[in-house]
Amino acid sequence: MPRLVWLNGQVMPLENATTSVADHAHLYGDGLFEGIRIYDRKVFKLDEHLRRLYHGISYLGYEMHIGFDELRATVLDVCRQADIEAGYIRLNVTRGTGLGLDPKNINRTPNVMVMVSTLSLYPEDAYEIGLHVVTCSLKVIPADVLDPRVKCIGRYASNILAKQEANRAGAGEGLMLNQQGHIAECTGDNVFLVNGRHIRTPHPASGILQGITRDTVIMLAREAGYTVEETFLTPYDVFSADEAFLTGTAAEVIAMVSLDSKKIGCGTPGEVTLDLMGRFRAHTATGVPF
Ligand code: PMP
Repeated sequence: MPRLVWLNGQVMPLENATTSVADHAHLYGDGLFEGIRIYDRKVFKLDEHLRRLYHGISYLGYEMHIGFDELRATVLDVCRQADIEAGYIRLNVTRGTGLGLDPKNINRTPNVMVMVSTLSLYPEDAYEIGLHVVTCSLKVIPADVLDPRVKCIGRYASNILAKQEANRAGAGEGLMLNQQGHIAECTGDNVFLVNGRHIRTPHPASGILQGITRDTVIMLAREAGYTVEETFLTPYDVFSADEAFLTGTAAEVIAMVSLDSKKIGCGTPGEVTLDLMGRFRAHTATGVPF
């Protein structure tokens, strides 16, 4: 599948899509991104992703020149042109171009990119077996430094370090705690614990990205009659849970079967996890057609 990029108003193949080395995201990580899935020629949760992006734009004070509806139409148009059945959309917005930290000295017209591409996913057997996870020594960036709800490019340096730690341990994901020792999230996924028909997930104040898959799974779980609580959780809660699973745009819903080489529940994907995995996959048909 050829990768197609819409960059500041023009559509081109990925190889031709270049921006200035003085782009503020290149120099300082001063940009935002969204990763969005395409299922069966439909864009999944497009409005939710755009809303999160525009909240980040407001938080960081970018002088965005493209409105929500225009960007929404652009995303759908690029998907149409890419003629893609299933895949991934990467949406990037940076503050603008210019040397120096001070935003008032740069060209403050954001650089906006929509890339339509394929996505590397966990192999299908990872969904049958589940993921082994390790606790990372690195803590999540506290909300009083950079609000974790803002999907800022720069903050991902710490997630990449944590992912390296997980890789060194041979684990599928790395679990990050906050400064208080509460569970926050994995490097690219939110965390859920299950006890009977009660499901718990870290409270937003634990320092998490409020994942769109997380919100979707909370909604689907409540619809299915489970109780869902957003609360403060510690590693002890993982080992007293019957099941655990992770959620994310790339991962969807995937079981977490061990933490630091110790089994969670039976050490295999649990009944509730499998139920929600199925409900989530069925829900992916609700996207915006293009
Ligand atoms: N936490 C982090 C740090 C992430 O990068 C992601 C992936 N975007 C998630 C959680 C899951 O969020 P979503 O369901 O919106 O993909």
